[in-house]
Amino acid sequence: MTSELQDRRRRLAEELRLKKLDGFIVSAGPNVRYLAGFTGSNAALLLMAGGEAVLFTDPRYQFQAARETGCKVRVARGPLLPRLMALARRKSLRRLGFEKGRLTYEEYELLSEGLWLGASLKPVAGLVETQRMVKSAREIALIRRSAVTLCATFERVIGRASPGIREKDLAAEFDYQMRRLGADQPAFETIVTSGERTALPHARPTANRLAANQLVLVDMGASQDGYASDMTRMAFLGSPSRRLKQLYAAVLEAQLAALDAVRPGISAGAVDRAARNALRARKLDRAFLHSTGHGLGLEVHEPPRLGKREKTRLAAGMVITIEPGAYLEGFGGVRIEDTVVVTPGGCDILTSTPKELLLL
Ligand code: ZN
Ligand code: ZN
Repeated sequence: MTSELQDRRRRLAEELRLKKLDGFIVSAGPNVRYLAGFTGSNAALLLMAGGEAVLFTDPRYQFQAARETGCKVRVARGPLLPRLMALARRKSLRRLGFEKGRLTYEEYELLSEGLWLGASLKPVAGLVETQRMVKSAREIALIRRSAVTLCATFERVIGRASPGIREKDLAAEFDYQMRRLGADQPAFETIVTSGERTALPHARPTANRLAANQLVLVDMGASQDGYASDMTRMAFLGSPSRRLKQLYAAVLEAQLAALDAVRPGISAGAVDRAARNALRARKLDRAFLHSTGHGLGLEVHEPPRLGKREKTRLAAGMVITIEPGAYLEGFGGVRIEDTVVVTPGGCDILTSTPKELLLL
């Protein structure tokens, strides 16, 4: 792990050289974790400069930081940004990069106030996130394990989806069992929706009770050892109508078409188009309200995004979701989602739960 962390920092240092940055302030928790191995990441900053990394944290994390990271650690009371800027000043850094999508305006003001003559702040977008897109074998193994936990949870709990149970209670049961099976926590708020509300792609679970002859959508993720997995499956409480069967078959066809397209070298946009074209052939492309998928790893949503116009080329070792859906207001929606790793020959599906519409 230490050498993997060193390698990540070395690669970032090379990027900083190319961008002519003397220093780089890492403020996003997942990026600090990625570069320094520090897991208490909501109270940490990293200053990368001259091939060296210095981690700033507060006294609550003093011992943990010393144990987890091979970087130099500075423990500070109070706001960390001014302390970091004081060190950057002592090092006489001039061009200082910061993560523009990850700072609040207030934090940006703190940075600006700490500037000195000759120094300037350079906004940088997605530098560490881009590096994080391709996972190491170790990271893939962790995501695979997170997905195993996720599938085991789904299979243990879904049988409880029966008329009378509330969406919220079913979601709580998923979360509880997920932890019991090894997850640290859900990777995001578990989605359980039923009936017509399945047409709302990201609805929260409500106090509504499931009823007979209803569609149930479950979209959930596990976070285990810091790594996320993400899966959506559907069940029906009774015997589905012809119309629903057709809708389900169309989305499954689109999902398989997109999975089939995944391979190194293809653009993220082309994978999205594979799903979209399959739905268009069934006149359902207008019912597909989001993009086909997203990268995941230390965060549940990270680059690349698999949307219409995305030019990023997939590469072996990327971990992404494939999750087309079709949503019909007043009727219901269907989404089928897998977490997959891009392999030299195509992709490997990490969420092994069967994808047929589950009849309960
Ligand atoms: Zn999902
Ligand atoms: Zn997803």
